[in-house]
Amino acid sequence: MRWQTGNVAIIGAGPTGLLLAGDLAQAGVPVTVYERRTETSNLTRAFGVHARTLEILDARGLAEEIVQGGARVGSLRLFDRVRLDLSRLPSRFPFLLITPQYRVERALEERAVKHGATIVRGARLTGLRQDADRVTLDFPDRTQTASFVVGTDGVHSAVRRSLGLPFPGKAVLTSIMLADVRLTDPPEDVLAVNAVGDAFAMVAPFGDGWFRVFAWDRRHQVGDDTPISIDELREVTRRVHGTDFGLSEARWLSRFHSDERQAPHYRVGRVFLAGDAAHVHSPAGGQGMNTGLQDAANLSWKLAATVQGWGPEGLLDTYEKERHPVGKLVLRSSGALIRMAMLRSRPARLARNTLGSALLSLPAVARRATGVISGIGIGYPEAPRVPDIPLHDGERLYEALREGKHVLVTGGSYRAYADRLRVAAPQQDSGVALLVRPDGHLAWKGPLSGFPGL
Ligand SMILES: Cc1cc2nc3c(=O)[nH]c(=O)nc-3n(C[C@H](O)[C@H](O)[C@H](O)COP(=O)(O)OP(=O)(O)OC[C@H]3O[C@@H](n4cnc5c(N)ncnc54)[C@H](O)[C@@H]3O)c2cc1C
Repeated sequence: MRWQTGNVAIIGAGPTGLLLAGDLAQAGVPVTVYERRTETSNLTRAFGVHARTLEILDARGLAEEIVQGGARVGSLRLFDRVRLDLSRLPSRFPFLLITPQYRVERALEERAVKHGATIVRGARLTGLRQDADRVTLDFPDRTQTASFVVGTDGVHSAVRRSLGLPFPGKAVLTSIMLADVRLTDPPEDVLAVNAVGDAFAMVAPFGDGWFRVFAWDRRHQVGDDTPISIDELREVTRRVHGTDFGLSEARWLSRFHSDERQAPHYRVGRVFLAGDAAHVHSPAGGQGMNTGLQDAANLSWKLAATVQGWGPEGLLDTYEKERHPVGKLVLRSSGALIRMAMLRSRPARLARNTLGSALLSLPAVARRATGVISGIGIGYPEAPRVPDIPLHDGERLYEALREGKHVLVTGGSYRAYADRLRVAAPQQDSGVALLVRPDGHLAWKGPLSGFPGL
């Protein structure tokens, strides 16, 4: 029997908040999401879902549906002929999936509601304060209390501001054009990317006849509120790719700037930050939504274990300890990619291309690069990622994780902690038992007789 010592409030119903809400609700924790918008969003924003995120979605029974509606990219062209081959990733999902952010959000919201999360729309947090026992949340028309609060309220996070945390960093790229368009003559490559010194442009299909164009022009740097015309987009795309791919109707055009920033802490007392509220980075590598979803998967089970009273002392501190360095790594790697794409002088671009190709032909370098970009290579020093393991009776580890519990993979028999532990036999028993955390990372490994319990 699970027992409760509190409730959780989540501020912001973006992808990070919705995944967190679904996990907490599935674990039986009372959870309310407060969202300032009154309507669900149909903005595409993020469009690339990486392999590790698909594994995280697989562990929630959502990957199949999301993969079906998207387009798969098996290799990423970084610049000119420098390519990253994703097809050899040691994952069930050896590709980048192109799909609009709202599809991921919809699937996560349906799951959260199905498990009993409450989503309150039109609720804009204005401030919060905390004492030793609870957090008090201020909205224009009411106050609410919660045992724990997670700020998943995006880049301008009111939660972060209320905690008095800075958000140090700087702008990396201004006047980026984003558009969802139709093309009469689409590129052969699923993902067409190129950079020519003073401009770059990327074209990717959503798989439903619409394409995302992402373009930047050093010669035309203007404020975010300057409108974009289809002609401007055509001209930059033509300059970069030699063709505008028959760019026609647009359903969405937006100009934005991109910052690199990270909060110094992800936890202050009973309040946590996750997703864009905690870190933002350059759009290169498509890491924004992916990193947020992985923050949520890391935090959710730790919060649930604490609220239910069985999480060990210090468990909640491991969230910042594990996720802050990952945020920093993503900031560094996506920043390096964008800076290399923007190199101006021809000799520098030539050196980049030659060196890039040579380095990526080394298997160890290619493995490291695809591991970081796809998230598959990102583990925590004390908790590496556990790959999908075939289990007895044709089941897989990531299916066993769908109950939201720890999974003890062992050929032996074990019966304790049934409320928080699923025991599963491997297809081939090596005699070594594995305890896998709900986020697919390793908690413990050894002979079953030495299993310390939960
Ligand atoms: C134009 C644009 C294009 C992008 N393109 C890409 C891309 O190609 N690839 C990629 O990976 N990422 C991209 N991103 C980034 C990606 O969209 C974000 O990383 C992702 O949405 C982060 O999710 P989140 O849940 O952390 O925050 P968000 O999605 O920002 O969600 C935050 C939520 O909190 C709500 N909220 C805010 N303040 C309050 C408040 N005070 N009270 C209550 N609710 C509040 C907001 O309404 C929102 O619903 C793009 C972002 C933008 C703006």
